[in-house]
Amino acid sequence: MSFPYEAPVSQSLFDRASVVTPGGVNSPVRAFRAVGGTPRFMVSGAGPYLTDADGREYVDLVCSWGPMILGHSHPEVIAAVQEAVARGTSFGTPGAGEVELAEEIVARIEPVEQVRLVSSGTEATMSAIRLARGFTGRPKVIKFAGCYHGHVDALLAAAGSGVATFGLPDTPGVTGAQAGDTIVLPYNDLEAVRAAFAAHPGEIACVITEASPGNMGVVPPLPGFNQGLKDLCAADGALYISDEVMTGFRVSKAGWYGIDGVRPDLMTFGKVMGGGFPAAAFGGRADVMAHLAPAGPVYQAGTLSGNPVATAAGVAQLRLLDDAAYEKVDAVSAEVRGLVTAALAKEGVAHRVQAAGNMFTVFFTDAEVTDYDGAKAQEAFRFTAFFHSMLAQGVYLPPSAFESWFVSTAHDTAAVERIAAALPAAARAAAGATA
Ligand code: PLP
Repeated sequence: MSFPYEAPVSQSLFDRASVVTPGGVNSPVRAFRAVGGTPRFMVSGAGPYLTDADGREYVDLVCSWGPMILGHSHPEVIAAVQEAVARGTSFGTPGAGEVELAEEIVARIEPVEQVRLVSSGTEATMSAIRLARGFTGRPKVIKFAGCYHGHVDALLAAAGSGVATFGLPDTPGVTGAQAGDTIVLPYNDLEAVRAAFAAHPGEIACVITEASPGNMGVVPPLPGFNQGLKDLCAADGALYISDEVMTGFRVSKAGWYGIDGVRPDLMTFGKVMGGGFPAAAFGGRADVMAHLAPAGPVYQAGTLSGNPVATAAGVAQLRLLDDAAYEKVDAVSAEVRGLVTAALAKEGVAHRVQAAGNMFTVFFTDAEVTDYDGAKAQEAFRFTAFFHSMLAQGVYLPPSAFESWFVSTAHDTAAVERIAAALPAAARAAAGATA
């Protein structure tokens, strides 16, 4: 496929990057492999817009994969960061910012009695699983196909492989031993979970699930699914871990927990809570968290955990996220969803917009998507054409059909109008696409 527009500065940066960095990127999906073409190297962000190295401006519907819920360069977040930077960038000692961020989290999310700060969502889920194993003394972990919990060895097992229910690693470098205690089940299938507990009584340390998945595209839990997981865990003595790295502080003040109210034993956070900096966390029941070093025997640590600049950004961002902010993000999301549906329907393109709060995905299928197989059954080639048309018209979508789109409080009428103006041509491109 060839693309009718050029990005010469991005191209030359990508060429240089490809010499010194595998695939030219520091996180795979940024490379545009799923859609083809040259990834755009961004140089600045302001409100709902990103500007690339060729000087082109885009309405940003990725928002750094979720964190930028107030838009880019929010003045109050920037001021908090500048103030923190001026005081020093890392001390290797406890600091007041860590306490403030932990208090913000605990105040917002009732099941979180204690929290430990880390630097990435991957670290949060890795540590939560270690803690669950240490607390229960059990080895096995249940995860769901299509749920992504970061690149933790044990959690990269068979994501989406229909062949194996039992941890076949799906990346080289993850050994059978690392993945062998991972049981991968189809999402939204409580019967499969019940059967796994029956087959391994007293062996399952935890079930980890995205609170509402966004990593196979947005596929919300069916009514009763999360509660069912919680009940099965409780009955067996396993822990229920809700991964809210993506949904936490994004879909409501209390994340997905604020929407479905199912009380996890442990939760993981990242993205929004760092205000655009590397800050993440895991937390939950105080009796479980008490097993963590130095209070207890389960080891976990980090040189930059609770970094003063990152915590300042996180605290500033969370404090700005009041009810009005979520109402605004929800309203923008609903408006954009409506515009996309109208444009695609006009061109007769089979599609389904699925939302979880203000997160949403446009699946190119008319069937409801309830699991990873359903997501993969969509006509992703139509997304490729749609994506490139939007990009050419200055709208930056996630470069994959299996991702959530994200909006912010900064997406104002002008930004939405730009999206609306780009959609008819993109819908025509999707309609005319061939596999
Ligand atoms: N968990 C979920 C639900 C995620 O969406 C992600 C990242 O997208 C992670 C964990 C990993 O977070 P990070 O990329 O910060 O390591």
